[in-house]
Amino acid sequence: MSRDTITIMKKVAIIGAGIAGLTCASELQCRGVQVEVFEKSRGPGGRSSTKRWDQTSGIGIDMGVPYIVKAQTKPLAVSVITSLLDAGAICEWRVNQKLNGQVESFDAYVGIPRMTAVVSALSNGLTLHRQARVTGISYNETWSLFTESSSYHHFDAVVLAIPAPQVILIEGVDDAIVNAAQSIQFSATNTLMLEMQSPMWFDDIDIVQVNGPKILSIIADYRKPGRNRGRFTYAVHSQPGWATNQFDTQSPDHILDDMLTDALTTTNRSTRLVMHAKLHRWKYAYLNGPAESLQCGYIRSTQSPLFACGDWCQGHTIANAFESGYLLAHNMLL
Ligand SMILES: Cc1cc2nc3c(=O)[nH]c(=O)nc-3n(C[C@H](O)[C@H](O)[C@H](O)COP(=O)(O)OP(=O)(O)OC[C@H]3O[C@@H](n4cnc5c(N)ncnc54)[C@H](O)[C@@H]3O)c2cc1C
Repeated sequence: MSRDTITIMKKVAIIGAGIAGLTCASELQCRGVQVEVFEKSRGPGGRSSTKRWDQTSGIGIDMGVPYIVKAQTKPLAVSVITSLLDAGAICEWRVNQKLNGQVESFDAYVGIPRMTAVVSALSNGLTLHRQARVTGISYNETWSLFTESSSYHHFDAVVLAIPAPQVILIEGVDDAIVNAAQSIQFSATNTLMLEMQSPMWFDDIDIVQVNGPKILSIIADYRKPGRNRGRFTYAVHSQPGWATNQFDTQSPDHILDDMLTDALTTTNRSTRLVMHAKLHRWKYAYLNGPAESLQCGYIRSTQSPLFACGDWCQGHTIANAFESGYLLAHNMLL
């Protein structure tokens, strides 16, 4: 693929409407490129999504990434963060967390009134194909994409903005990108969403870092800015190692019971205070750390105008997903 081929790029297909794919798409669209985003789920967001909890009141619970740690947003992500702040999609949040019995605080950004506000702001004006799982791609001067029910043609470039283990499932991806994706290990996790009749704790704490064998943390979702403070909603995140080990062997009901028992024991609450509990399982949730990622920003195929971005290309945080999408958009047109 020559540089000349890249400069005339007019129409780009992005597979995956998570933070990396949407950041890449919106940055490209701002630069005059026609972009179409393909997402296998009903809505965009990926691992930055919110569960609709109560349709009548509009309450949601952030079931993926709970916030963006301010200290992790390096200069590249900062430019995207600033536009999200300007658009009112996020705000600053001083988080009080309890860790080993001590209370400490850190600064974060959080979506208003839910984390999906980030995704909505990034997808504004984009062409998004929902429930469109891409199963294959093929290149013959331009790209064609195939889903289970349709095909889409005449793209100058394709961006794979999906977790590494899902890249491998797409037919037609070249060996270099498949090999890079195969080198990346993801862990699973579970999110138990809870609504309680009364708070699980009464002190000024937003997150309890449990760090037990099954539970990693309990986040008081209702204490985030812009939430309904009268509805005691929580997101309980499991330990990735535990979730990975029993992902294919334990039933969701069993996992829900295990996590609920641990959460109630940790906070000394009774089952009768639980109004509603729901589990979401993530097969590809986290990389274990920056060293697990490629740390190269994004990948560019040497054979065709095919690219990959996502947290796994740059690091292990949501800030890295922003950076990866941003870096790719700003470099693929060079
Ligand atoms: C429970 C949980 C807690 C987390 N906590 C934190 C945290 O505290 N701090 C932090 O920094 N990060 C956290 N993360 C990680 C963070 O969410 C991710 O780093 C970030 O959201 C990754 O974004 P992405 O765009 O790279 O990938 P994704 O969000 O995974 O987006 C990929 C998208 O591609 C779609 N897709 C996949 N295959 C296909 C296909 N074949 N066709 C079409 N679409 C497809 C998926 O449905 C998805 O929407 C957490 C993640 C989870 C799940």
